[in-house]
Amino acid sequence: MLKRPAAAALCSTLVLSFAAAPAAQPPVAATVIRAGRLLDPEAGRILANQIILVEGNRIRDVGPNVAIPAGAQVIDLSRMTVMPGLVDAHNHLALTYKPEPENNVYYYTYVQESTALRAIQAASNGMQMLSSGFTIVRDMGNNGNYADTALRQAIEQGWIPGPTIINSGLIIGGMGGQFFPTPEMAKEHNIVYPEYLDADTPDEIVKAVRQNVLFGARVIKICVDCKPYGYTADEIRLFVREAAKVGMKVEGHVQTVNGARNAIEAGIWSIAHSTGLNEEMHTLMAQKGIWRAGTDTPDTLAGHPVSPQAYQRTVASLKDAYAKKVPLTFSTDADYYVAGKTRGEVCLEFLKTWKDAAIPNADILRAITINGYKVSQTETTRGPIKAGYIADLIAVPGNPLDDIEALKTVQFVMKDGLVFKRDGVMTPAAFFHGGPVNGWRIR
Ligand SMILES: [Zn+2]
Repeated sequence: MLKRPAAAALCSTLVLSFAAAPAAQPPVAATVIRAGRLLDPEAGRILANQIILVEGNRIRDVGPNVAIPAGAQVIDLSRMTVMPGLVDAHNHLALTYKPEPENNVYYYTYVQESTALRAIQAASNGMQMLSSGFTIVRDMGNNGNYADTALRQAIEQGWIPGPTIINSGLIIGGMGGQFFPTPEMAKEHNIVYPEYLDADTPDEIVKAVRQNVLFGARVIKICVDCKPYGYTADEIRLFVREAAKVGMKVEGHVQTVNGARNAIEAGIWSIAHSTGLNEEMHTLMAQKGIWRAGTDTPDTLAGHPVSPQAYQRTVASLKDAYAKKVPLTFSTDADYYVAGKTRGEVCLEFLKTWKDAAIPNADILRAITINGYKVSQTETTRGPIKAGYIADLIAVPGNPLDDIEALKTVQFVMKDGLVFKRDGVMTPAAFFHGGPVNGWRIR
């Protein structure tokens, strides 16, 4: 009986105190970027002297005459080209195989490096990617026991800077995945597993997709034809249906024409690698609007030689895909160490293949930005420099429409409205927190 009036009194006190303090909310920090040139990759054009207003983690306004709020931090990029962040549509941040001690055989990397160690390496690789301007990375498996989910969560929670991670969890394939395990290995699942999730029957396919969803995947990755029997079009349809229940898409690792045919027939979202993609497959992919993540390896990576014949095939395939209007993404599969280069610098070396395929700079820029947002399913929230979008953007000297090499000299990076790199130097202090700042319950 006594509590009721006391509670009522408390309520009215609270109402009064709120009414007396309407400005209790802290003002949203505003940042204004003066862009000498602003690249719109969709239109393939540059707009001069634009102002970008960022409030909190979002772009509020863009244009030549945006009003600058009092007290706003002004960043002068009037000598730069500001542009949307880059996307690598196929990488593996928790895997770096190297000459020592494993002689570049990643089978041994799995044996020697724990998931925990690889997660820390993934955090470092993520920062290296961000420093080169990659604000989104699709991380397509081979990350130990869900190190990719841990990386995504740590970045989303605000513990560390990094690209937005669209991760696949474990790659699903027939027993052994991309490997041919010994019976001992396969039976106990304690060597080279958990790199792969076995799924050889319809029940196992459903269960494997659900396991990845439960453990934080954002996309499903399957081995279409890593085994001689591979998956039929019907089996791939089952993956696609099961993933679609939670709005996820399916990427297929494809290495044979037969595998490509089955994946295309099943209406897969994206195909990784180009070895199975001949002219007929490109025609079918263009008809169905299937993304090509060709992972088009250049011939200039020290310690990772590509034969002239193999490189010519890669270039010819990319050229054919472009001519046939296959939807193209910039994708690297760069999951190895190249002496003297960061992970981001290694990825940008892949521009050489696109140049050698004679793809116009405007279309390379579309592939590495807009198409990347689309294949990552972020195109309505993150990517374009437009009002309402999350504030990810980068700046380079020069004009990448004239010289695509300009992408290799990223001087400025903003991620989620925070400055990560300025005047060519990483300045990540604003990203580090002792605890989650964006919600702990992120799966
Ligand atoms: Zn890969």
